[in-house]
Amino acid sequence: NKVCVIIGASHAGVNLAFALRSEGWAGDIVLIDADAALPYHRPPLSKAYLASDDGIEQNLLKSADSYEKEGITLRLGVLVKSIDRADKCVHLNDDSVQVYDKLVLATGASPIVPPIPGIDGASNLYPLRTAEDVTNIRKALNTSQSKRVIVIGGGYIGLETAASLKKLGATVTVLEREERVLSRVTAPEISQFFTNLHKQYGVEIFTDKNVVSIETKNGLNVIKCSDNSRFNADIIVVGVGIRVNTALAVAAGLEVENGIKVNATARTSDEDIYAIGDCTFHHNPHYNRFIRLESVQNAVDQAKVAAAAIAGKETTYNTIPWFWSDQYDVKLQMVGLSEGYNRILVRKEASEDTKFSVWYFKDDELLAVDAVNNAKAYVIGTKFIKEGKKVDASKLVDPSTPFKPANL
Ligand code: FAD
Repeated sequence: NKVCVIIGASHAGVNLAFALRSEGWAGDIVLIDADAALPYHRPPLSKAYLASDDGIEQNLLKSADSYEKEGITLRLGVLVKSIDRADKCVHLNDDSVQVYDKLVLATGASPIVPPIPGIDGASNLYPLRTAEDVTNIRKALNTSQSKRVIVIGGGYIGLETAASLKKLGATVTVLEREERVLSRVTAPEISQFFTNLHKQYGVEIFTDKNVVSIETKNGLNVIKCSDNSRFNADIIVVGVGIRVNTALAVAAGLEVENGIKVNATARTSDEDIYAIGDCTFHHNPHYNRFIRLESVQNAVDQAKVAAAAIAGKETTYNTIPWFWSDQYDVKLQMVGLSEGYNRILVRKEASEDTKFSVWYFKDDELLAVDAVNNAKAYVIGTKFIKEGKKVDASKLVDPSTPFKPANL
């Protein structure tokens, strides 16, 4: 019997395992993860799940019995230490060896904990990547009297965490190093909207705050910034970005750049090894460049492509990236990649000031759309980006123009 071994049982790895069966793979499937919990959804960890008292069983990617039904062997709580490409096997930290015919790296990414002096001795300091992180944060909040939380980093995860912890009754402050939140990924209009939104809900956001040290005494953390400002915190959540888990691939001699390099069928430089999800550096045909994405869409779509290829029916990856963020009662949906834009248009719907969309262009090419509480803008934007449509700017920004593709 042939064996397909998958390292990483999260969005990419789990979707691949199930897709392999539907593509007709009759061999063994072994899904390995260092995390001991049954595979779960990550996006809710900073959103609804964090704000609830749900257990992980309410947030599973697949039901516990579905793995057995599909003949998928789960090996949880074990770390793959190395890959032996010559003998086609992987070595695990329980000293066992697992052979493979096809190997898939779905190793994702790990949160960055910045080397700030004092960070190791900080009290109740957590990143937010795993279900265990959520358990730790909830526990710290429940046992804290004053519930003062500092979130370091005003990206999506930092802002979603701030909104969720506010819902749980915490006093929340976000410290962002750049001059605005979400600066890496959105236009100033979106940053301003979310800054105002958080203010309305009583979350303070300070920008241009570069944390230089943390001093901790009797459980109280004092966070010091480069401008000498200080902030007190019982709990610190660090959301300053991720590092791609490429160490196994590098040690195995696979081609790695800004992630594990794969072709359009998600295959690495070794023809029996594939890589999918956050850990990959892959070509996007629409934008005609290699990119790395941190999104469920990419994990799921690459899983499908790799499953087809492993089962001997090649399809190629060709998706316009999309992403979402939920904060309070606001839904932000994004489609496309705005990098390289030189012009934006903002469409505000006449009746509501919390419903608008930002359209990113490079000259007259539509690159991306960010839609705030506006599913229609997201759908029309997706269609236009795919079609390479030239949008009529004056009609787009005029809220009296009915929002229909034919009118724009
Ligand atoms: P990961 O989810 O990172 O999983 C990789 C797995 O590999 C891990 O479980 C890890 O334990 C395992 N692993 C790694 N190395 C080894 C090893 N050597 N041995 C054994 N196991 C190993 N995306 C969106 O599209 N929308 C959102 O709203 C959104 N919100 C998010 C909120 C949070 C709090 C977080 C953390 C992420 C969010 N994301 C969101 C990103 C999304 O979750 C990731 O893009 C997605 O999880 C990527 O899936 P993956 O399977 O590639 O990698």
